[in-house]
Amino acid sequence: MLFRFTLCLTCVKRQRLTNELRGDVLMDENMQEYFKDILLKRLEELIDEAEKTVAGMTDTEETFPDPTDRATLESDRNFMLRIRDRERKLIVKIREALERIEDGNFGVCELCGDDIGIDRLKARPVTTHCIECKRREEASEKARVT
Ligand SMILES: [Zn+2]
Repeated sequence: MLFRFTLCLTCVKRQRLTNELRGDVLMDENMQEYFKDILLKRLEELIDEAEKTVAGMTDTEETFPDPTDRATLESDRNFMLRIRDRERKLIVKIREALERIEDGNFGVCELCGDDIGIDRLKARPVTTHCIECKRREEASEKARVT
């Protein structure tokens, strides 16, 4: 397993306490667990796919005589460089989303600080913008192009 997620229980507890004290339950724990499951599953699939891609590439490339030499070459960074762009971007996004779950920021819009909304998150768990901000962004992008 190339990617590991460390869960600091003290931080999680502290964050929960802060949320409780502030009285704003942005998303309940069950929901967070639900999204964490989805994200971890997706991440696993992506890494599996990526590993296959990398393995396929290695077959056609030069072979390393010593298997331990090869093992050292297959570092995290190397691995990330070798996998396809699309997968790499998604892996990064999923890892960030998982970090936000640990930080207690998951489901909060990066731009306006509002709740993103469970339905939107279900459709796209890695999103960082609420639908309003997303619309506004798209509108301004269109305005720039035309
Ligand atoms: Zn927003």
